[in-house]
Amino acid sequence: MPKRNDLEQKALHYVVNTGYQGVLQSDLWRELGASSREGSRVSIKLEEKGLIRRERELQEGRWTYRLYPKRLPASIQTIVDCPCLLCPDNARCDPTTAISPKSCPRLTDWILSLGKEDAAPTPAPDPSVQSTEEADDSVAESLDPR
Ligand code: SF4
Repeated sequence: MPKRNDLEQKALHYVVNTGYQGVLQSDLWRELGASSREGSRVSIKLEEKGLIRRERELQEGRWTYRLYPKRLPASIQTIVDCPCLLCPDNARCDPTTAISPKSCPRLTDWILSLGKEDAAPTPAPDPSVQSTEEADDSVAESLDPR
């Protein structure tokens, strides 16, 4: 049986690698070759240390936990299109000079665009479908004695 600290390290590494999907506690212990009792102790320990989050989940009629990392390592993909990387003014850019990240419109635009790319576009409303609000209004109108 692996030592508990080794198991904590391995478990944390595994959970971090699952990213936003997380992993079922039982799958994790199976993967690491630990007993469910030892696994539960380790996951509680990792949660107490603030390294993971446990959420109850019903799986095949039984309650278990899904484990999520509290922090994910930063990816190079998050900055690959930052305008500073290819900026001709990069060497002269400094917060204390006229060319400054404090007043750079390219940097500001890039920062404001972050997160917008992942947002799903709002679908255009289907004109054949009556919205709930409209349906409620028509019911209200039919009940209005005026
Ligand atoms: S903050 Fe603006 S000027 Fe400065 S390096 Fe980035 S893109 Fe260039």
